[in-house]
Amino acid sequence: MTQQKTGNDMPSFSRISLERLETVDPRLREVLEEAIKHFDFTVLCGHRGKEEQNRLYSSGRTKVMWPDSKHNTYPSLAVDVAPYPIDWGDRERFYYLAGLIMGIAASKGLRLRWGGDWDMDGKFDDNRFDDLPHFEIVES
Ligand SMILES: [Zn+2]
Repeated sequence: MTQQKTGNDMPSFSRISLERLETVDPRLREVLEEAIKHFDFTVLCGHRGKEEQNRLYSSGRTKVMWPDSKHNTYPSLAVDVAPYPIDWGDRERFYYLAGLIMGIAASKGLRLRWGGDWDMDGKFDDNRFDDLPHFEIVES
């Protein structure tokens, strides 16, 4: 995949992204399938098994052990995505992608919580644990 694109070229998911998407709740998958038409990103993780969850917990990359993450259900109620090509230092692109995904979800009546705004107050400087790739379904 090249970075230079014409206005007519729509980004699309790679095969590994599609495989990971297969493990994600269809409501969330539908939102991401719309979002990819507008902005290129990669799917890092859908469902997460016990070993992987507890390994991430040990390394401090998640705050919860198995089975308390929304990644631990099947299909997964959470997904991790990152702007493509990935640059972890480029926070602006993560925020842009989050706005796109949250907007599409809202238009479909799906409530999501983003790892850049855990308390869902629309403020980002009070977020104590940034997990910018993370989105999860809020069941009402
Ligand atoms: Zn996550």
